[in-house]
Amino acid sequence: MRALDEVLRADAPGHHAERFEKAWACTGCGACRALCLLDNPVADTLFDGRADAFANDLAPPAVKAFLRDEAATDGARRRARASLDAEGATHATLRYMPGCAEADARPEQVRDAAEAVGLLGRCGCGVSAEVCCGAKLHDAGDRLGLLAQARRFAESVRGVETLVVGDADCLAVLRSVYPRLGVTLPKVEHLSEFAEAHLDRLGAVEAPPRVVWHDPCKLGRGLGVYDAPRRVLSAVLGRPVGEAENHRDKALCSGGGGLVPLTRPETAREIAAMALAELAQGGDTVVVVGCASSRARFAEAGAAVEDFATWVLRGARAGAQRP
Ligand code: SF4
Repeated sequence: MRALDEVLRADAPGHHAERFEKAWACTGCGACRALCLLDNPVADTLFDGRADAFANDLAPPAVKAFLRDEAATDGARRRARASLDAEGATHATLRYMPGCAEADARPEQVRDAAEAVGLLGRCGCGVSAEVCCGAKLHDAGDRLGLLAQARRFAESVRGVETLVVGDADCLAVLRSVYPRLGVTLPKVEHLSEFAEAHLDRLGAVEAPPRVVWHDPCKLGRGLGVYDAPRRVLSAVLGRPVGEAENHRDKALCSGGGGLVPLTRPETAREIAAMALAELAQGGDTVVVVGCASSRARFAEAGAAVEDFATWVLRGARAGAQRP
């Protein structure tokens, strides 16, 4: 914070590359703000620092390489994503927005989530034609790129009434960052909020003995959504969902946010291992996650990980089969 303050007050920020570097050591987990009696916005300040660094061509090489790669593969990824809405639900006023990490790596998961939303809403649910909200551009500090993507995204959901978002990182950008950019959207709900509104349509299913919910940092500390995923998972499990010792506003970060796996991969791995040691308690645990970045980190660390959307679909199917 102090280093950035000095840089931002300086006449020539371009001379302070090494001071900006620390801005990329933050996952944006919000744990510091939750603990700070003065409510200092540490992560927001560090991410503002990133944007100033980016504007001065001082982003770390790993971040620049990542953005170059994203730009080079954008066309191919967009063509592949076009098949996500193969059911022709493009005109549905209810749309599921998976986020690009899910859309690119696990299209079957995206279709499952859209099916779950459709079953609960008892209407057709399309998949958002544009699946990138610009979260990675935000993390990279690319203000102009983010603004352009935000406008593109908003245009793609014009006419939609409700946008149900699966990835907590995307939800945080759509709900907290877009308003600061002056970009307006239709009603945006996290999948847990949408499912909670239809709790009576969920049925209970058979489940392993220990299923634990990992609070995504951006959903919990970021947006204050703690109860909805717990109520939904508990309804599907037919019992209270398991908790890590540190949960809700004290939940441990997975190390997957803020592009830290790119800029400090070893740090990201250590954070994930720490969180998993607590969540899994030595084994026989299914960890349920609500963001692609946590999924990637925990899976890499060898955990049995399942998506929140998977459990919603199981519950929605069980509910639909009830007489
Ligand atoms: S990683 Fe989390 S605790 Fe550390 S500065 Fe960033 S938001 Fe705060």
